[in-house]
Amino acid sequence: MIQFTCPNNNVPERTYAIDALFADVLGCNRNDYSVQFRDDVHNYELNVDGKAYTIEDHFFNRFVEPLSYLKLENIPEKLNFFHGLGLELPIIYGEDKFVRKENGAVIGLDIFASTFFMLTRWEESLLGREEKGDCDESQLFCVKQGIHQRPIVNEYADLLREFLPSEVALSTRNFEVVLSHDVDGFVTPTWTRIAKDFVKQTIHGAPTKVKNLTWKEEIKYKCAFPTAYSQFEMYTALTERHNIPEWFYFKVCGKGETEATYWFDEKLTKEVIGKLKKEKNPHYVLGFHPSQNTFGIKEQWDKEVSRITELLQEKPTIGRNHHLLYNYETLRLWETIIEKPLNISNCVFHRRLGFRSGICIPYNLFDTYQRRKMNLVEHPCIIMDSAIRLHKYKTKKDLWDDIEGIVDQVKKYSGCLVLTWHIYVRNKSLLIQYFNLCGELLEYASNVVNSK
Ligand SMILES: [Zn+2]
Repeated sequence: MIQFTCPNNNVPERTYAIDALFADVLGCNRNDYSVQFRDDVHNYELNVDGKAYTIEDHFFNRFVEPLSYLKLENIPEKLNFFHGLGLELPIIYGEDKFVRKENGAVIGLDIFASTFFMLTRWEESLLGREEKGDCDESQLFCVKQGIHQRPIVNEYADLLREFLPSEVALSTRNFEVVLSHDVDGFVTPTWTRIAKDFVKQTIHGAPTKVKNLTWKEEIKYKCAFPTAYSQFEMYTALTERHNIPEWFYFKVCGKGETEATYWFDEKLTKEVIGKLKKEKNPHYVLGFHPSQNTFGIKEQWDKEVSRITELLQEKPTIGRNHHLLYNYETLRLWETIIEKPLNISNCVFHRRLGFRSGICIPYNLFDTYQRRKMNLVEHPCIIMDSAIRLHKYKTKKDLWDDIEGIVDQVKKYSGCLVLTWHIYVRNKSLLIQYFNLCGELLEYASNVVNSK
């Protein structure tokens, strides 16, 4: 039995961080550790088999009043590293101190406050997410300090593992890969549409916006991908070959709504969903992709939830917000869809690859403002096709250095490599280019599984 005693303040926050490291990451059974909060304790005191380890508190004791830590000035400005036990771990809160004692050790790195910082993303709420639904990712601590390609929460858990007795059963996790898709638009142009565009473009000239295709590009696309289901088939063949799960998030916009790239009630949408469901492939999970029209508007949210439920003929169990637009109000709405924990996958960078919440396994979300663990499990997405494009890699080698580094780490921590490839690209050559990259990535990941 592992016994913890902690300072008696910020109890929900401390409990969440302790459970995240012990239960979510290390896979300890909740019965294998006990946590006590005491007024006369000032650090995290860990007693294991008569040995005493002190993990110093360098954060929550400074903010005894609930939520008083939630200020921009409490986000660190500098990065230091912890060097105990031959490790080099980023310190978000704490200091570079490791003192081995006859019967234990003192650790200066506050892994609990640092884990809480990374997983709850409270920093993002202060940087504008609550009002705008998103924030400037270049302003995030992990990005500014260049540690966004390190799953540091997994690294913190490894430090903790050093002190655990061998009889504590840790769950064994396997490295897995999931290919997820935001279904943002799949309608292949009809010949009538192409004829109309031909006439329009002959009179008014070629479209000026990149996303609007020329009639020649439309023909090329139509010949390569003749039906609305063609793009899906391409990816499903890939995931079948690699025997991995594939998740589809469907948008359910109606006629006239902003960015209604396809309509929930049109024949093609029903056909595509019907086809995927008919496959009865246990690896396919169909989910919900709420449009930006739902942000801050509960009426639209409710409308879209009933549309997706009708289309799927069941309540969605997975989801991701379109444009990754969400805040705590949105997350609380996700929580009301089903009673069991719903799987969500919103934690991903727009313009870079890596670990936005510093972790490569699914974990429970925490409502920072209501101070409670949520009934939602986040599956952080680590590599997204559009982020590769927006990052503007100079060479293919630069891209692959990042990809290999990331995949190898997810493998090292037996994590879950969630990839996102959009189903929306209507330009044939771009689509083939991204599809090929997806294939190469899955190939690399499966070689990693088999060889190391
Ligand atoms: Zn989307």
